[in-house]
Amino acid sequence: MIIYGTKGVTITTKKGQFLCPNCNRVNKYRHKKVKRFFHLYWVPIIPLNTEMEFVECSVCSATYETEVLDYKINFNDGGIQSIFEQAIQKAMIQILLADGEINTDELKMVHLIINRFSYNDISLADLDSVVRKLEVNQEPISKYLTAIAPLLNDREKEGILNCGLNVASSDGKVDDNELSVILEIANSLGVSQTRLKELMQISLPN
Ligand SMILES: [Zn+2]
Repeated sequence: MIIYGTKGVTITTKKGQFLCPNCNRVNKYRHKKVKRFFHLYWVPIIPLNTEMEFVECSVCSATYETEVLDYKINFNDGGIQSIFEQAIQKAMIQILLADGEINTDELKMVHLIINRFSYNDISLADLDSVVRKLEVNQEPISKYLTAIAPLLNDREKEGILNCGLNVASSDGKVDDNELSVILEIANSLGVSQTRLKELMQISLPN
């Protein structure tokens, strides 16, 4: 007896980084397609039409329509930066400056997060000059964040911390100065230490 029929085979066509709406942070994704093959004795022989495609988060394994790759941190009508976006940018820059040097990997991570996930694009050179100005004229971030915390919901507060953790770990390590800025941000936003530990466990390798 000859056994034949069709069989779905999942293939990964693209990989990259995206903002996972479930994890609320930047993670790696796989863009997958399920192709149907004509099979003979369960061996795929002839590819048929593509059946479906989806994007999968490498951390939580949630799957999304491919439109998720266009998902932005905040939708505003353009022009004016939302308070949430400003807070993310300030928090990330504070962490970037925490170890006393402007690390290229960290700067690139800040740049990636700003440009991929907010509607207000900035060039790497412009970001660099914003950071250098702030380096000379550093204001305590706690004061700013404490003031705006009542305007943010829990998901946004955790989003700010997650972006900060992404920046802190982008050079491969989180040092004590970075950790103390992260603690300061969590405190100012009213995120508990227990919740911060959970976010760090999800976010940071080891
Ligand atoms: Zn996820």
